[in-house]
Amino acid sequence: MGNDTLTQRDLNVLWHPCTQMRDHESVPLIPIKRGRGVWLQDYDGNRYLDAISSWWVNLFGHANPRINNAIAQQAADLEHVMLAGFTHEPVITLSERVLHLAPAGLRRCFYADSGSAAVEIALKMSFHYWQNQGCRERTRFISLSNSYHGETLGALSVGDVALYKKTYQPLLLQNITVPSPDCYHREPGSSWEQHSARMFAAMEQALERHAETACAVIVEPLVQCAGAMRMYHPIYLRLLRQACDRYRVHLIADEIAVGFGRTGSLFACEQADISPDFLCLGKGLTGGYLPLSVCLTTDEIYQAFYADYAELKAFLHSHSYSGNPLACAAALATLDIFEQDNIIEQNKALAAHMAESCAPLQEQAHIAEIRQTGMILALEMVADKASRSPYPWQERRGLQVYRHALANGVLLRPLGDVVYLMPPYVINFQELDLLAKVAGEGIASATT
Ligand SMILES: *Cc1c(COP(=O)(O)O)cnc(C)c1O
Repeated sequence: MGNDTLTQRDLNVLWHPCTQMRDHESVPLIPIKRGRGVWLQDYDGNRYLDAISSWWVNLFGHANPRINNAIAQQAADLEHVMLAGFTHEPVITLSERVLHLAPAGLRRCFYADSGSAAVEIALKMSFHYWQNQGCRERTRFISLSNSYHGETLGALSVGDVALYKKTYQPLLLQNITVPSPDCYHREPGSSWEQHSARMFAAMEQALERHAETACAVIVEPLVQCAGAMRMYHPIYLRLLRQACDRYRVHLIADEIAVGFGRTGSLFACEQADISPDFLCLGKGLTGGYLPLSVCLTTDEIYQAFYADYAELKAFLHSHSYSGNPLACAAALATLDIFEQDNIIEQNKALAAHMAESCAPLQEQAHIAEIRQTGMILALEMVADKASRSPYPWQERRGLQVYRHALANGVLLRPLGDVVYLMPPYVINFQELDLLAKVAGEGIASATT
């Protein structure tokens, strides 16, 4: 069986995520037969280097023997049991280990099955905490412009990517949006730190104005990934933590994309030396194997729900697959690899090499900026470098880069006109060089 047969069958019955299905009249769908390490292989035998970790989930390669083995062993014992009234060793051990690794003060794990669901949990828990405390007027959330927290209605409400949000506006919560500290917009001559610190003034104002009605501030620490990989300095998180304490508003850190080593530290919050009141994790939690997410929180928040049943203070939220044992086994194997292979340290060399391989692209006429935070590197493609004016979105230059890369054995999936590398941590220097070469050539071909 080849690609064409499967593509035809697929297009008869499937509706794909984040896709205008009509595009597949001209852009081929690619059926993948197998994955090994950083490589994916289709049914015609073509190989693609997975430069974006299959939507930022894969950390240690496809078909990783250690994770495969952990799942197979777990499947032989117990595939699933509901987590209400029941428990199992993988979910207990995973909770102990994640809490041990997470920023200080986080003491409880509440599980779900997707990043969006973890965000919904954080929002509901924060709101419900204030209800249980008798603060009934607290109903709103504060978030950043250009942020992304998922696609379910609550998560979409606190996000700000118009492409995903605008249509659904009438269905969404009233949200307070504050300008992002995104350093792409810094003034010439000012540093990331200066810019991010200066941008905090707007957050301070919003907190002051809404201190009595806000439940929480929600942010993506250091990198707004779906918002075209825009980045900011840890100083912003430090100022935010202090201000949230001052105004008595919760801080939710959405590390679904940036957690598990992406920014250079295990969690991005570490770089600001802060602890949030809620930490949302997903994506890389299982090494990119199975859907699992978790919302961590403090004992103070947990205690506000702990009461006699008749007080009706419990958090009665659930998902069928909460804390699935197979997913927990994959997550435990993933944490083992972090420890045994000293990944955070190893990644420093990979990140430095990624910077070096991409540095020459700085000279290219239509690349306005190369920015990097740890294992995420982004190339901002523009119509005019001096004025940084973008191409009209209708031209879909990013799609041209995508097609060029595929033809050259690399899976890149630009966000609009921003081409980025976010590879699995098992990539080697030679493969990083290939990514830089194909990204550069792809941008060159899309901009001539
Ligand atoms: C991907 C993502 C989500 C949503 O996770 P899903 O598993 O796709 O629901 C939420 N927040 C951030 C920062 C993300 O990158």
